[in-house]
Amino acid sequence: MNNPKRYTVTAALPYTNGPIHIGHLAGVYVPADIYARYLRLHGHDVAFICGSDEHGVPITIKAKKEGVTPQDIVDKYHAIIKKSFEDIGITFDNYSRTSAKIHHETASEFFMTLYNKGEFIEEVTEQLYDKEANQFLADRFVVGTCPKCGNEESYGDQCENCGTSHNATDLINPKSAITGATPTLKETKHWFLPLDKHEAFLKEWILEGHKKDWKSNVYGQCKSWIDDGLRPRAVTRDLDWGIPVPVEGGEGKVLYVWFDAPIGYISATKEWAELEGKDWEPYWKDKDTKLVHFIGKDNIVFHCIIFPAMLKAEGSYVLPDNVPANEFLNLEGNKLSTSKNWAVWLHEYLLEFPDKQDVLRYALTANAPETKDNDFTWKDFQARNNNELVAIFGNFINRVVVLTNKYYNGIVPKPNALTNVDEEVLAAIKAYPSVIASSIERYRFREASQELLNLARLGNKYLADEEPWKVIKEDEDRVQTIMYIALQISSALAVLSEPFLPFTSDKLKRILCHTEIDSESTWDGISEGRELLPANHTIGKAELLFNKIEDKEVQAQLDKLIASKKANEAANKVIEPQKDTITFNDFTKLDIRVGTILEAEKMPKAKKLLVLKVDTGIDVRTIVSGIAETFTAEEVVGKKVTVLVNLAPRALRGVKSEGMILMTETPEGKLVFVNPDEAGVANGLHIS
Ligand SMILES: [Zn+2]
Repeated sequence: MNNPKRYTVTAALPYTNGPIHIGHLAGVYVPADIYARYLRLHGHDVAFICGSDEHGVPITIKAKKEGVTPQDIVDKYHAIIKKSFEDIGITFDNYSRTSAKIHHETASEFFMTLYNKGEFIEEVTEQLYDKEANQFLADRFVVGTCPKCGNEESYGDQCENCGTSHNATDLINPKSAITGATPTLKETKHWFLPLDKHEAFLKEWILEGHKKDWKSNVYGQCKSWIDDGLRPRAVTRDLDWGIPVPVEGGEGKVLYVWFDAPIGYISATKEWAELEGKDWEPYWKDKDTKLVHFIGKDNIVFHCIIFPAMLKAEGSYVLPDNVPANEFLNLEGNKLSTSKNWAVWLHEYLLEFPDKQDVLRYALTANAPETKDNDFTWKDFQARNNNELVAIFGNFINRVVVLTNKYYNGIVPKPNALTNVDEEVLAAIKAYPSVIASSIERYRFREASQELLNLARLGNKYLADEEPWKVIKEDEDRVQTIMYIALQISSALAVLSEPFLPFTSDKLKRILCHTEIDSESTWDGISEGRELLPANHTIGKAELLFNKIEDKEVQAQLDKLIASKKANEAANKVIEPQKDTITFNDFTKLDIRVGTILEAEKMPKAKKLLVLKVDTGIDVRTIVSGIAETFTAEEVVGKKVTVLVNLAPRALRGVKSEGMILMTETPEGKLVFVNPDEAGVANGLHIS
């Protein structure tokens, strides 16, 4: 869309059954905030909207588990999430919640409009029912095998493995998540949105209309959905937590959480407009409004297929111009998981790294999972800070501010004759706003953040090449010009860094005393080549913008992750029950000896097997052992081992094996020798 009159920017409503972690931030909130801040810097009219998604089955499950009400759960996490967003500098114009009265009203009205227009199919169907729990099993109340990818842990409404959205009755081998029982079928009435009826429109709008401007991962998922053929989807559920179905026959039923949640964007806009004394409707209904949904890849189908079908059926709303969904962020090589506590929680980060909000924002942007799943590692986080923010951005600013104070008492000097290099640098500064803008407008935030850093690199290089600290001895006039130009770069950095590093931008503007001049230093001012910091303007004293992150800080975070991994293992450890009792006589039949591995080689074409020559004290014999996935042949030579020597020989891949090396196995499947390695323990000794 060219030259929209206003922007409605939404960020996926976080689900209030847990706090926010870095995966959410990298996937949705940081890019959305960069976009919204950038638009505001340009003087655009923006409504940046979000809120807590407080309905749905997982919240009721969590409440049951903790013995509290669903309202207690959502109140607790809404407060944590809202505060952590504020503290990391996410500038929502409104952060609302779907339990708000205005949302219940808006969602009910929306449902009624579609109902009155005859946009729903009303149907009595058989749904999964848990006789023990005496309730229907909607969505996450049921787990089973995904009909598409075979994942055995798929939920009733969506498979987290392949992202497919389905009906609970589509699951193979469904089981109740409440009692574990196999559900029966029971008749119940529901209202369905006939997505098949909207297929032609969706094909034209997405497959033809957005082939070029939507990200390929988003477009691809939509295409596969549409190509598979769309079917009616129930928009109501047999539950007691949610928005009551406002029509006759709707008693005991609520709106499906995925029907009401996206309407939350609309009700949050209404709530904001009321507070601001504005009219909400243009933000959703004027054709000159650009609507952009920031989401993670697991929400693509709801934002690109179902919600647009709802908006289209209602008839008076605009459709999203773009849905720049990101892929997933992993953590230290493993999938982020709330239930396994494999995460970096935002509220904890903010406590443990005070005043380092921008470091996290930057690390997550520079390594954003824009085109494929990416990995967050604490080492990369440290390197982004130490090698980029400290060594490039911070170092440049510090030198400029220190030298300006040293040579000119903090007063911006008047420039003298410009060299070719000076002219080139000034021209380069001028080009940055449009380079960064072009990346942001194509939702390439990673690229945009690197362009910003390139401006700091330019400054560093300029100072290193011009060496004002040397030139000052012979040519004071020249140094005035050098410092004047370096100060212009600093000022441009203060402005252009705002969407990415808002806390740093504020601090730098304060150091440069931006507020005390009628500054020409704005996004547009920079690209028009105006004077950003005029001669005779006084700047403040130097302060470090960034501090080095030490190895021990990173190690503390890694230790924390290892601790959660161990806690998980302990929680999941299955101890096998004891076997049947045997007599002492039975035991003495086992002849177990100490031995030493003398030689080892890999069994050809066998992944697991090593062929060992073992000195058992009795003889040197061949034993084939299934340890090759944990150990190489070289590693085990010379190792003292425990050997069951009187096991009947057997042939493994044509090699006769005479005995067995005793091993145990860690929960991760790593084999460990039962090891009699102590001074004085000789081959052939009995173990008894
Ligand atoms: Zn699946």
